[in-house]
Amino acid sequence: MKKSTLLGALPFVATLLLAGCGKSQDVLVVGTNASFAPFEYVGGPNGDEIKGFDIDLAKQIAEDAGKTLKIENMNFDSLIVALNSGKIDFIASGMTITPERQASVDFSEPYYEATQVVLVNKNNNSIQSIDDLTGKHFAVQLGSTADIMAKKYTDKVTAFNSGFEAIMELKNGKVDLVLFDSEPAANYLAKNPELKLISLDFPAEFYGFAVAKHQGELLNSINSTLAKMKANGQYQALVSAHIK
Ligand code: GLN
Repeated sequence: MKKSTLLGALPFVATLLLAGCGKSQDVLVVGTNASFAPFEYVGGPNGDEIKGFDIDLAKQIAEDAGKTLKIENMNFDSLIVALNSGKIDFIASGMTITPERQASVDFSEPYYEATQVVLVNKNNNSIQSIDDLTGKHFAVQLGSTADIMAKKYTDKVTAFNSGFEAIMELKNGKVDLVLFDSEPAANYLAKNPELKLISLDFPAEFYGFAVAKHQGELLNSINSTLAKMKANGQYQALVSAHIK
């Protein structure tokens, strides 16, 4: 009697376990680091919504795939690990396509061109060219392309979990400069008039959405949403709404 009751409950327990461990087929989970306005940031009337250019693109990607978008906000340098452990389905986080990252993940077609820029305190006139970066103390976002680049110029690099913390370090005079992506840097500058933005001759970087290896179906679906949004003007409307 007791045994049969237990056996009868098994399918139910199994379903519960599966629901708890796995991801629902109807949900597409995007990972992001929401301290990178205008691409991803925390905002909205109650300050608890994750918004931005990448997020609007991600919403359309999910809609076209017939799924509900779930957003996981995490440290930038945790994103690829989360992707490859199956915690998230794709990354939308202003992530630059680099050969090093391509060794562990696949990228969509590039969807935005950016470059690195320098932020300094307004009274700092010591940086006119890339050569002037040698030996300076940099603050960067941990695991970013800036983090990697900075090490070419100096051994004084302090890396933070968010761009915001790097900017605070600069404002507090603890570092000489922040090396950061152009649009988020301009965004921080608008809120911190005591800073100055310096454009140097850095190479272009291209952002892509990342998926785990062997996820061809998802990758194709992301690329077709991007192509469709570029063709029907939706992409340009998002650029105008969020960026310029
Ligand atoms: N584009 C940079 C990179 O991929 C920074 C991205 C970010 O900080 N969100 O490393």
